[in-house]
Amino acid sequence: MQATLGYAALDHQSPLVPFTFNRRNPNPNDVQIDILYCGVCHSDIHQTRDEWGNASFPMVPGHEIIGKVIAIGSNVTEFSIGETVGVGCLVDSCRTCSDCEEHLEQYCNNATFTYNCPDKQSGGSTYGGYATQIVVNKDFVLHVSDKLDPAAAAPLLCAGITTYSPLTHWQIGPGDKVGIVGLGGLGHMGVKFAHAMGAEVVLFTTSVDKVADGLRLGASEVVISKDEAAMGKHLASFDFILNTVAAAHNLDAYTALLKRDGVLCLVGVPDQPHPSPAIGQLIFKRRSIVGSLIGGIKETQEMLDFCAEHHITSDIEIIPMQVINQAYSRMLKSDVKYRFVIDMASLKS
Ligand code: NAP
Ligand code: ZN
Ligand code: ZN
Repeated sequence: MQATLGYAALDHQSPLVPFTFNRRNPNPNDVQIDILYCGVCHSDIHQTRDEWGNASFPMVPGHEIIGKVIAIGSNVTEFSIGETVGVGCLVDSCRTCSDCEEHLEQYCNNATFTYNCPDKQSGGSTYGGYATQIVVNKDFVLHVSDKLDPAAAAPLLCAGITTYSPLTHWQIGPGDKVGIVGLGGLGHMGVKFAHAMGAEVVLFTTSVDKVADGLRLGASEVVISKDEAAMGKHLASFDFILNTVAAAHNLDAYTALLKRDGVLCLVGVPDQPHPSPAIGQLIFKRRSIVGSLIGGIKETQEMLDFCAEHHITSDIEIIPMQVINQAYSRMLKSDVKYRFVIDMASLKS
């Protein structure tokens, strides 16, 4: 075992604090990674505050991990020491169910999430990326191109794949009119990806001060979602809307904007249910409301390669580990442009 320094929530209401815990020594199939950067996802806030009702404390959050390989097990040929790699929300799965066989490990009933999840190897709970190092099975480690800035690539491991996967699954491309709801960590990646895939992109935001950024990031129009007249101009016109909002809100305002057969895809996971939908609004135009969970490992690698090819990374604000609690407060006020990324050097000095 190796004593490892991180930051943890010790219960659902106290600020995160420094915390030392044990990581396993790398086994023959493991990659040991010196963590350089870790993105801060809104899921980290939901879980440390036990908003999803499944929290296990102490909890070391973090699933947008970028680092350098510092050791490899004897069976590892895919990675070499010194290489830049990534780890996202998954660190293991059963590998034999139909989801795993179809490279959709995120839907495996026995998937092991990077933190706050029973760990088959240790018998305890998994601990995430707000830490100096991590040991991960080689099948759940991603190659990260040197073309990508490592800090700005960290959010691709969750915010990136969570928006790329549904846009790809619903085959978004030229000719499609796509809405992105919420300009936060996920939303700003959704705007970039939908634009790069050739769609016409409209951003829906509650924040008047994000209009210029929405246009800069690739939207052709930005709609303030509280403005009913502006919303009304887009009735029944969208092929696909990706909703990234982290709080419960009325979805009917968005289903009304879908064409016949249009799809509203939810990726935000609020602590309370949405007060919707109006069923008639779905039935009379055969509209769907669907959900989507991160992405599989193969697809995450494809997304990282797509980003290297198209020069896509996240817009980030780098912070030291010590200000994580202030960063959470700011995210709750939608005050982040557009992802906090922890510089793990702050924990090592
Ligand atoms: P974030 O950076 O905090 O962004 C969320 C955005 O939602 C905010 O910037 C804001 O955008 C909008 N918003 C917040 N409160 C709102 C409210 N009361 N009404 C309307 N809009 C509101 O969060 P994130 O990291 O992108 O995560 C978003 C959600 O996705 C979270 O619930 C997270 O847990 C979930 N998530 C899901 C998956 C998955 O696999 N499905 C993966 C990762 C994260 P504007 O200022 O533009 O309105
Ligand atoms: Zn996340
Ligand atoms: Zn499985």
